This record gives sequence, C-alpha cells and structure tokens, in this order.
Amino acid sequence: MKYLSTRGDKTERHFCDILLEGLAPDGGLYLPTSYPRVDAATLARWRGLSYAELAFEILSLYIDDIPAADLKAIVERTYTEGVFGTPQITPLKPLEPGLALVALSNGPTLAFKDMAMQLLGQLFEYELGRRGETLNILGATSGDTGSAAEYAMRGKAGIQVFMLSPHGRMSPFQQAQMFSLQDPNIHNIAVQGVFDDCQDIVKAVSNDLEFKRAHRIGTVNSINWARLLAQVVYYFAAYFQATRTEAERVSFTVPSGNFGNVCAGHVARMMGLPIERLVVATNENDVLDEFFRTGVYRPRGAAQTLETSSPSMDISKASNFERFVFDLVGRDADRLRRLFVEELPAAGEFAITDEERRNIAQRYGFVSGRSAHEDRVATIRACHQRFGVVIDTHTADGLKVAIEQRQEGVPMLVLETALPAKFAATIEEALGIVPPRPAALADLESRPKRVTVLPVSVEQVKQFIVDHV
Ligand SMILES: *Cc1c(COP(=O)(O)O)cnc(C)c1O
Repeated sequence: MKYLSTRGDKTERHFCDILLEGLAPDGGLYLPTSYPRVDAATLARWRGLSYAELAFEILSLYIDDIPAADLKAIVERTYTEGVFGTPQITPLKPLEPGLALVALSNGPTLAFKDMAMQLLGQLFEYELGRRGETLNILGATSGDTGSAAEYAMRGKAGIQVFMLSPHGRMSPFQQAQMFSLQDPNIHNIAVQGVFDDCQDIVKAVSNDLEFKRAHRIGTVNSINWARLLAQVVYYFAAYFQATRTEAERVSFTVPSGNFGNVCAGHVARMMGLPIERLVVATNENDVLDEFFRTGVYRPRGAAQTLETSSPSMDISKASNFERFVFDLVGRDADRLRRLFVEELPAAGEFAITDEERRNIAQRYGFVSGRSAHEDRVATIRACHQRFGVVIDTHTADGLKVAIEQRQEGVPMLVLETALPAKFAATIEEALGIVPPRPAALADLESRPKRVTVLPVSVEQVKQFIVDHV
C-alpha cells in the first residue's frame, strides 16, 4: 500500500515514511492510493476475532513496511484489557433495541483519543528504535489531545513530550490528569495566555526549520494518518457486535470537531463495511453541519468560535475535512487545490457542485445535525431517565442528532467520545449528581503536580526545550 497527497504530490510513500510526519510537503493530507475492499467472506471470517486480532488484519492492509510478527506484537501490546478496562476493548452499551453507544472512552484519559494515541505511542517507539532516532513531540492542548498524547508516550524510549496548555484554563480534572504524570520524558508547560497563544507558539517553533531539524521536533496532531487508521478498527468491531450476519447494515453517529473520527468511519465504509448512514453531529460550532446541509464550506476564525459545554468540539476549521472532499471531487487533486488553496483563502468559503452535493448522502451516506447547550442538558436528562445511563456532553450532542436521524430497521450506534466524569459541571447541571469516576482516579486532583509556568514567549519555550533534550 502506498500513500499520496490530496494536493497532488505524487511521490510514492509507504506507511512508515508518513508515520512521523504531519502535512505532506505540498500542504495536503496523506491518503492511501486506494481503499482496500473487504468482501462478505472476509467480514464473516473477521467476526470472531478479538479486538487486537481485528486491528492486525485491518492495519496489515495498509502497512507493508513493518514485518507481520512485529505489527502483531505492537497491536497486542496496545489493545489490552489492562489499558482499556474490558476484554472487548470497545463494548456496546445498549440503550434500547436498535440504539446503542459504542464505549470508546475506557482508556487511561477517559476519552476516545486514547484508542488511536495508544497505538501511535507503540508505533513511534518501534520506528524510532528501528531507525536509531529520537523525537521531541511539541503540542498545544486545551484538554483531550494533550493528555491522550502524554499517557501514550510516557516512558517510551527515544521520545520526549513538550505539551503547552493555557495556564489555569483547563478543568481541574484535565489539569490534574496531565500535571500528575511524573515521568521524566513528559514536560507540561502552562503558558500564561489562552489556547490560541499556545498554538501560535507551536506554529512559530515548527516554522523555524533550523530549530525544528536541530532538535528533532515532531507532532501528534489529528491529521496524522496512523491515528485515523487506528480509528477505522472500532467501526468494524462495533458492527460485529451490533449484527449477526453481513447482510445487516448499521448507521453511526459521530460527535465531530476536526472530522478525524467520522473520517475513519468514511474509510471503513469505503472498504465495504455495511454502513447505511454516517451522521455528523456538531455543537454550536456548526461549520460541518452547514456544509453537509448546504454544500458550502465556511470555516470561521478563532474570534467566532464559541466556547461551549462540549469543548472538544469547539473547532471551526476541521483539519481532516480535506480528506473527505478529495474523495467527493473524484480524487481530482487539481480541483481540490483550487478549492482549498485558491477559493477558500480568497473568499473565505467554497461551494461544491449540485451533483457533488447529491453524492454526499446518496453515494457517501453522510447526513448531519447540530446540538446546543439546552439540547445537551435535555439529552443527558432523558438518557438518564429512560435508560439509566449517564453520558457526557459530547456524546449527548451525538445522541440528540442520532435520534433525529434514526431509520426504521437500521441499528443506530452512537460513538461515546468521553466519560461524564471528565465534564462533571454540565452533568451536575442536568442531573444534580456528580458523575461517577473510575476508582483508580478518586484522588487525582490531590496528587503532586509537575508543571512549569512560562509567559507567552516563543524564545522561552525554545529555551525550555533546549534545556531538557
Ligand atoms: C476530539 C474529540 C471530539 C472530536 O473528534 P474529531 O475527531 O476531532 O472530530 C469529540 N469528542 C471528544 C470528547 C473529543 O475529545
């Protein structure tokens, strides 16, 4: 399997060439040259596999530059009951006949990003070891990504993590989750500014190519192909749990921000997994809902991005979206470049053709919906009353839209992207109870913290990195 860039760079690359990279050199995103098709007989054979075995089968279709025995060992180390809490790894939580949650949030940081990041940690350590190289991961986080990255990379040979977060602006739980890590290769930097300041510092450091090369700076952001690929696996795993034969179809609803999670669903569907609908659920930051309803993509700036009670979806420029548009325009890289490199910067938006718009639903199965704070609160309440299940705010956005888009006879699976303990304030508002937390995290906030506070200064962050590598 080889990889190409959505913007036309034709250099042939293998999986490990792009594993440690972000964007392609031409600014595009990497995709496989074609999606491997999985027939009904293969699906039937996969039905009985464990999660790690299934992950091995799927990853093997996309990775031809890691020996099979090594890849098998990597997935077996990653997807264990010890890390994810259950032998199924992503069990279904039935709500009523034809409606279930897919539990993706039982990893160490209680959000679905662990599903991919834990694999990335193992792959990075393996590949760096094989090359005899080291990597210093620099990132900015307002919550879930940074903690998932730190828990995936802690103690990994050859890797250090420098994670910037806005000082005093994350929830106490999220701060404690990151700052309580005592591993010497994990460095928390609390920047005396807002999230955008953190992101600007990361960009400035990454744009200093000399510094970047000299100090081997890398990232783990959501455009990384390996992260997306890891997420494809749980669509298959959920399908097998929800059906008895390969003749059955299911739909998925996905609480969306950067379009990474639901893009993995798109890849699974392109591979032949019998998915009827892929339902994109957004919060008040509804750029994606607008696109799927109208065919107009109109990203917003930081100033127009609302702070909501499902904060991990407060994104107004969906970084993985270009991958889907590439397929939608028939993989025409020239047309894709015109949309993203010419029209979008010039006009602040672009529109697709009427035919492409019809294809969104008819050919690719995408529909969408939107949810606001009142909807989240009402959905959390209704879910608790009717099903006795406490859900988090992001999952509530999904469930609200899933119920609107449900079809007779097609099971609807809603991806649970975080546990309610992570976003306790809104749960208390809705239910008047403090959401339960895994016992191992009972004393999280009182553990000793390891963090350095720095001003909004590119130079001081650079100096900190130099002093610690
Ligand atoms: C990251 C995140 C999302 C959004 O996922 P994307 O892949 O960016 O679309 C949704 N919910 C939670 C809890 C998250 O952490």
